[in-house]
Amino acid sequence: MSRSTTGCQRLEAFITVRNMTSHAAAPAVLLPRLDEPTPVLLMNTIWADRSGVHDALTTPSELSAWLKAVGHRLFSGGDRAAATIRAIDVDEFRRLRTALRRLAAELTHDTRPRALTSIEGQDPEWAASLLNTVSAAAPSAPTMQWPERVAQLSPPAGVRPPVAALAAIAGTAVGLLAAPDSPQLRACQAPGCVLYFVKDHPRREWCSAACGNRARAARHYRRHRGARGPASRASHGPHHS
Ligand SMILES: [Zn+2]
Repeated sequence: MSRSTTGCQRLEAFITVRNMTSHAAAPAVLLPRLDEPTPVLLMNTIWADRSGVHDALTTPSELSAWLKAVGHRLFSGGDRAAATIRAIDVDEFRRLRTALRRLAAELTHDTRPRALTSIEGQDPEWAASLLNTVSAAAPSAPTMQWPERVAQLSPPAGVRPPVAALAAIAGTAVGLLAAPDSPQLRACQAPGCVLYFVKDHPRREWCSAACGNRARAARHYRRHRGARGPASRASHGPHHS
């Protein structure tokens, strides 16, 4: 995985995830927009910078770091799934990620070439089938703590935590992707971005503030360059600055 770029918020975040150890940084600083639903966070472990598209989930230690950051959102004690990762778990998480990105591409009419490289050769039917299989494999149950009356999800007994975590992500994804009134999933159209996000505000157009800044800068550059086209450049008119 390349580290050739500088100043990229996502790159720094994922390096932080990759390098973190058991009691390192607090989850809130690990990923930009950690408030996305967990299926979107999984989709977004494919990310990009100027040097290309990158994968933040290639080894058990990377998956472990990622689950340490987001696992608590899946079910009670979900972050402890990070402690028991095997190599096969990496394969399974990546497979579900491919399915989620395939369905997301379909739903958002995604035409971003770099975003589509990660799902080449997969069709939505395969993706939906995989999603359903994973979700049904280890469904977490809603439980209530008494006397606090706090509701929480509990993984099924006897299931390895990483398997339960994957199933929980798939279950959340069904709610995210299936319902007619489901949240508005979007593909970020900032230059070069391959991430998805849920449009949780009418004016939100980008996956992150960083992408919004880059998109505005690119738009400004295009306008500026357009104003400095051959004709205006020859005239040295007022558009030339
Ligand atoms: Zn973006």
